[in-house]
Amino acid sequence: MNRPVILCVDDEKIILSSLKAQLQNNLSSNFQIEIAESAEEALEIIQELIKNNIDIPVVIADQIMPGMKGDEFLCLVKDFSPSTLTIMLTGQANADAVGKAVNKGGLFRYLSKPWDEDDLVLTTQSAIDSYIHQNKLLKQTHYQSILNQTLSLALSTLSFKKQISKALQYVLSIPCFDPPSLGAIYFINSSHVLNNTSEPNTDQPDPASHDSDTTSKQLSADKDLVYFQKLCDYSNNLSKNEIIIPLEEIEKHSHFIFKEKTVDHLAHYICPLLIDGDLIGLIYIFVSSFSQENEDMNSFLLSFIQTLSGMYRLSKSNHDLRISNRHLERHKFELEQLVSHRTEALNNALIVQEENNVKLKAANTELAYFATTDSLTGLLNRRHFFAMAEQRSDILKTHKKQCIIAMIDIDFFKEINDNFGHEIGDIALKKIAQVLTQNFDEDTVIGRFGGEEFSVLMPNLDIETALAKCKNLLLAISSAEFIALSKSISLTVSIGISKIKQSDKNIEKALFRADKALYVAKESGRNTVSVFEGIKSNEGDK
Ligand code: GH3
Ligand code: MG
Ligand code: MG
Repeated sequence: MNRPVILCVDDEKIILSSLKAQLQNNLSSNFQIEIAESAEEALEIIQELIKNNIDIPVVIADQIMPGMKGDEFLCLVKDFSPSTLTIMLTGQANADAVGKAVNKGGLFRYLSKPWDEDDLVLTTQSAIDSYIHQNKLLKQTHYQSILNQTLSLALSTLSFKKQISKALQYVLSIPCFDPPSLGAIYFINSSHVLNNTSEPNTDQPDPASHDSDTTSKQLSADKDLVYFQKLCDYSNNLSKNEIIIPLEEIEKHSHFIFKEKTVDHLAHYICPLLIDGDLIGLIYIFVSSFSQENEDMNSFLLSFIQTLSGMYRLSKSNHDLRISNRHLERHKFELEQLVSHRTEALNNALIVQEENNVKLKAANTELAYFATTDSLTGLLNRRHFFAMAEQRSDILKTHKKQCIIAMIDIDFFKEINDNFGHEIGDIALKKIAQVLTQNFDEDTVIGRFGGEEFSVLMPNLDIETALAKCKNLLLAISSAEFIALSKSISLTVSIGISKIKQSDKNIEKALFRADKALYVAKESGRNTVSVFEGIKSNEGDK
């Protein structure tokens, strides 16, 4: 490999050989000392060196030369090779020329002729040190910017596959890999990496990929080391054996970056891609054997693969997040559907319930009607009459109000049944019930006691008024027109009435007395009213 050049320019041969000898004797043999007798010759040498990629850390030039002067020449050197440091050698302390060279050409130092050898060596050595330091800083800045670019890739929306592809391109832009280097990233289990980290359907197959390439085809067939992506097509220079590394070999080196010679002019770095200590892939960076690398390359590559590892984690966690979001969305949808179905079912159940309630209410009303009402006549049935009469008489007794109870029985009703049939008998019963209802006030309690007998509770009446009302009733019934089977049928009833006494424990007592009076009414020829309190006999007054 070519050594960096320190170039000395002076029109006097003796000075040149003296400079060369002193520098060669005192500087490290890592440097090559070149000389030129004029600025013009020196410029030609410089251009040639640049063309061959050879570093020129320092140029030392005389000020007073025929043709181009030293200050002008050193300004030009800076144009061709900005990082080169320049030293001016001047016979007379020409302040103007030095000032011009400092201002225009960024002169590093100047030395007065005749120079002291130690001065020359020290000044040159310090220029070399500055040069190295400055280059190191530049490289570090470049490396840092590559790492920054790689980091920002991790935050981009690109797929993981595209992210690492671009990251590798950034690395290969480092000048030491020039002339163009080859880089490749292999995943030990590519299906795992691809399926779990790349965004589905966003990656088109890389046109610079396998198909045209024998090496990559063979790699794809290899189950343990799967070709993933190759950026530069240098495959023609590489045979299968040169690229495939046995798995045991990889595992042995899996925690280190190492460099191996591939063929005469090529070497490669192998960088393990580790996630949580597990080797998931390898990065190959092929580099020309002639390229000038620096000692920081290993630590830079280490930072680089750590950044890639972070990129992988981020990409994987984004992917997992997307999957779990998808699950959540689906669960949310299913839950919403379930809620909507349940709500619908509940609404339907409520409608049915509402309908059932209406039916139940109607059924209860009907039940209550049949439980309290005589179905033939529509009057209160016997049980309900007792309940209502009892309740009413209790209230009236509490208020010390008079109250009359009556028992009414149709006269010779059996004959009506016998003569006209049971159905006509039923119609007669209804007719009597109708007349009863019409003849009493609303607050009168009227019930069908049983068969052709009726019971009536007349509130707030004394016995005389009740008697008068019952006589009117007799008249109303006997005069009511009742036609059956084209025949006018006359109906009459007999009535027994009695007061409800304050001492009566229940309504039955009064009913019993009214029934006694009814018996008397029947006995006295029917179609009449008998008042229990007017009966002489003591028999019924129990
Ligand atoms: P009296 O004047 O003494 O009361 O004579 P009566 O014929 O009315 O009395 P009786 O007790 O001998 O007959 C009552 C009849 O009433 C007998 C029975 O068939 C009839 N009866 C009772 N309940 C019904 C009914 O719901 N419908 C019909 N059609 N007849 C009934
Ligand atoms: Mg009877
Ligand atoms: Mg009768």
